[in-house]
Amino acid sequence: MVNKADAVVIGGGVIGNSIAYYLAKYGVDTLLIERKDLAAGTSGACDGFIFLQSKKPGFDLRLALESTRLYENLADELSYDIEYRKCGGMILIETEEQLKAIIELVDGQRKTGLDVKLMRIPQELEPILSGHIIGATHSPLDAQVNPFKVVLGFAQGAKRKGAQILTHMEVQAIRTRTVRGELKVDSVITERGEIKTNTVINAAGVHAPVIAKMVGLDLPIIPRRGQVLVTEPLPDLVTSLLVDAEYITLKLAPDHRGTDGLGLGFTLEQTASGNLLIGSTREFVGYDRRTTYHGIKAITQNVLRIAPALKEVNIIRSFAGLRPYTPDGLPILGKLRGVEGFIVAAGHEGDGIALAPITGKLIAELVVKGKPSISLDEFGLERFK
Ligand SMILES: Cc1cc2nc3c(=O)[nH]c(=O)nc-3n(C[C@H](O)[C@H](O)[C@H](O)COP(=O)(O)OP(=O)(O)OC[C@H]3O[C@@H](n4cnc5c(N)ncnc54)[C@H](O)[C@@H]3O)c2cc1C
Repeated sequence: MVNKADAVVIGGGVIGNSIAYYLAKYGVDTLLIERKDLAAGTSGACDGFIFLQSKKPGFDLRLALESTRLYENLADELSYDIEYRKCGGMILIETEEQLKAIIELVDGQRKTGLDVKLMRIPQELEPILSGHIIGATHSPLDAQVNPFKVVLGFAQGAKRKGAQILTHMEVQAIRTRTVRGELKVDSVITERGEIKTNTVINAAGVHAPVIAKMVGLDLPIIPRRGQVLVTEPLPDLVTSLLVDAEYITLKLAPDHRGTDGLGLGFTLEQTASGNLLIGSTREFVGYDRRTTYHGIKAITQNVLRIAPALKEVNIIRSFAGLRPYTPDGLPILGKLRGVEGFIVAAGHEGDGIALAPITGKLIAELVVKGKPSISLDEFGLERFK
């Protein structure tokens, strides 16, 4: 088994694989370790929205815009069909009060450079929508991918560039050594042995706090469950990615719990295979990845309110994933003070798919050049202190 690497990435989700790809592209001798299969965590239990309109105006949206640019050529770059489609997206508005709040949001987003407009009759673009919806925002820049394929595309690209990927291998400990009074990463301990390295990247999603604890650090990341329904494959019914205004409130105000503690916000997309993915909830229930009767019923009632024409459609399965939630809804990215060589890239909540390419690129730049091309200062752990 491999016993040393320049950089060890922990976690085989979309974030870990993106980082491994960009590191390998820079020629860094990279090893990714995943304790189950690739995409076995949240990246294999989510939607495929690259939804710019749900990002906070300012540095959050700017980062997402950069990520979107990388997505545009990613399939060609990786020689892998990730089912990327620039389909556009809408935030649906049902009340005058929501309209007022959304006008303000759109204003901030435009100032940050997002192409977005307000539509008074969204039914013209998406006939499936109920007549009671009084308006919607629309951005042509919102896009869609297949998250499994993004993970596998990055993994294959990383391997082609020389990275090694080991699955079904758990990281159990991280050893450090003291050099001139400073703590430094020394090796990663797995059930199959020790791997010497100077750089560890913690991309373990909702398990990132467990990995950080191995070097004595605390991360404020907790799981936030999302339940999703999947329909049978259907002919083309919707073009755009759809969310309602409540989804945006839940996303932009991370403290907001929604009604019933379920954190119910509407999402709908049609995949390349024709299935509709209908979501979702935002619940704090620990590491419980089960779907519930209560959750499925609430999602069903919600979708029939917004798109009553879906009444006859068959649901073929449901699933739940755990969003890596941080108190301000933004990821924690960069070096952690106190242990040299220990980097974190986790806590992407509901944005990990959208932000994966830019996260991988910037973390690779941090490792190779010591400084990323876009500052990660706003995403440091220090902001919580
Ligand atoms: C219902 C739902 C819908 C979503 N929809 C979207 C969307 O439309 N767009 C979007 O951008 N985002 C979406 N998200 C969010 C997105 O899925 C996550 O932000 C993203 O998948 C997180 O990726 P990750 O690589 O950080 O974590 P993960 O995919 O969870 O990967 C972490 C990996 O680390 C591994 N690991 C943990 N501990 C160890 C260890 N000790 N040793 C080795 N490996 C370990 C785990 O097995 C896991 O595979 C959604 C999330 C949910 C739940």
